[in-house]
Formats: sequence, C-alpha cells, structure tokens
Amino acid sequence: MGKNRFDVLSGKVPDDMKELYVTLIREASTNLPKDITDKLEIQKQKEQDGSQAKKALDIIIKNIDMAYVKETPICQDTGTVIFHVHYPLGFSTLKFKNDITEAVREATRKGYLRPNAVDSITGKNSGDNTGLGLPSFYFHEWEKDYVEVKTMLKGGGSENTGIQYSLPDTRLGAGRDLKGIKKVILDSVVKAQGQGCAPGVLCVGIGGDRVSGALAAKEQVFRELDDVNPDPVLAELEKEMYEKANQLGVGPMGFGGETSLLGVKIAKLHRLPASFFVSVVYMCWAARKKTMIIKDNHYTIQ
Ligand code: SF4
Repeated sequence: MGKNRFDVLSGKVPDDMKELYVTLIREASTNLPKDITDKLEIQKQKEQDGSQAKKALDIIIKNIDMAYVKETPICQDTGTVIFHVHYPLGFSTLKFKNDITEAVREATRKGYLRPNAVDSITGKNSGDNTGLGLPSFYFHEWEKDYVEVKTMLKGGGSENTGIQYSLPDTRLGAGRDLKGIKKVILDSVVKAQGQGCAPGVLCVGIGGDRVSGALAAKEQVFRELDDVNPDPVLAELEKEMYEKANQLGVGPMGFGGETSLLGVKIAKLHRLPASFFVSVVYMCWAARKKTMIIKDNHYTIQ
C-alpha cells in the first residue's frame, strides 16, 4: 500500500544525506501541509454556492490533490528555497550547506523545483536554484540533542505583496501604538487586494530593525494555523486581525467573499526608541513548508 497524504515519513538516515534532503524538498514542493489543506476545505464550505470564491477554492484544492498524486509542484513558482536549521553542538553547518546545495540542484533536475535563481544584474538564470544567497540558510545552535530542519518554498508573487511600515505613518494616521499597528496590518491586506494568490497567511513582525523584524515575520510561516500565540496580547491581536481582514471582502484570488486570509500570525521584538517597524510577510495558499527531525540516526519528515 502506498503512503497516505499526511503520513509522517520516517526511516534510517541514509549514508548519502543528499538523497534525504531531496525527499524533504520533494515533500515540501508536492504535498501541502494538513493545516493549510484543512483550512481551505473549511473555507470552501463557508463560501456561497456558485460564487467565484467557492469556485476558486475548489480549483485550488483540486490542484493541491493532483500535485500530490502526480508528485509534481503544487505551483509552477517553486519560490525561494529557505532552510532554518536548529542543531546541537558538533553538527557541521558547512557539510549541511554542501549537502543541501547538492540536493537543491538534484531536486531542480528532477523537476521538484523550477530554476529560480537569477543574477540580479545580468538576468542570467543559474539553472539549478543556486547562486549568491541561494538557497537561503539560517542556523541556530540549541541545547537539544537532535537536528531540526525546517524548509519553506516562498513564492515570488506572495513575497512581492509583503510590506514594511515605519510608524508613525501620517498618511494612514497610524501612531506608535496598538491602534497604529492594527491600522497598518489591515492596510496591507487592502493593498494586496488578492494579489499574491489569496487566501494566504498574514505574518507580522512588530519591532526589531528592518531586517530582524522581517525575519521574525517570515518565521511565523512555520507556525501551525490553529496554534495559539503564547503572548495573550498577540493572541488577541491575531484573532482580531483575522476576523477584520476577512470582513474586507477581498476573497480568494481577489474575487470577493468570506476568505481573504487563512490565518494571522504575529511576533514581536524589542526595538530602538527611534524606530518602530511593522513588517508584513504574506504567504499565499501554496504555503509549502516541511520539518525534518534527525535523531539517533533516524529521521522523520512532517
Ligand atoms: S503567489 Fe503562491 S500560488 Fe501564486 S504563483 Fe506565487 S507561489 Fe504560486
């Protein structure tokens, strides 16, 4: 019997790590996580029969199912390949980088990734998804005794709808307080108007600098849709922004309806007294993310 859609893949770590990392990339590219798929199905039921919104969600869900069955990318834009790695003392980040880079090349050859790395001056495509800054790595040493590799494929259309606000924003009348934060978050949804392939997940970083705030926002993509923020103020803010954004009527692919967003996830960082950034990262419905755990010569991919 073949594997089921949401089975946890597991096994002994192979001698050739590249092979394992190709599997991780294939799963990210072709098998959308359960939390996103379930939410799309729930929202489809909420849309009116015969509406453009319901039809759009239906097509999206069929597309996701076909990609899994045929083991082909969920979307033609397989995006930026991003890895966040937590590792214990003694793990070689250099070896990881080399193995993963080879795996990205192999996954591109196999068609799980579209060649997406373009020289920003010459316009030349490297043809294998590697280049300056690509694939993208973030390494964090931790005290646990296992390695965790989180991968995300971040599509260009959704990345283009991201935005960073510097408060106060006089044009929007948004001050350096919770009210101002709410104004700019909702402004970002209105501005997107369904571009970046709605519905998706709105990820927000409050505070930090221009880089750390955006990074904190992007890391929110890895959260499960139904988790609850441990910070009660942020939990309330996530709930309120989700409800209000879905009352704006933008809808799936901008066709109108109940479903502009699948979720809102918010992080906060300390900031300088002189700066107050609100960074918004938007992740489209093709929220391709997977986590691999490697422990005691055994791996799981989920
Ligand atoms: S925004 Fe997402 S769904 Fe739309 S084309 Fe890009 S990757 Fe694909």
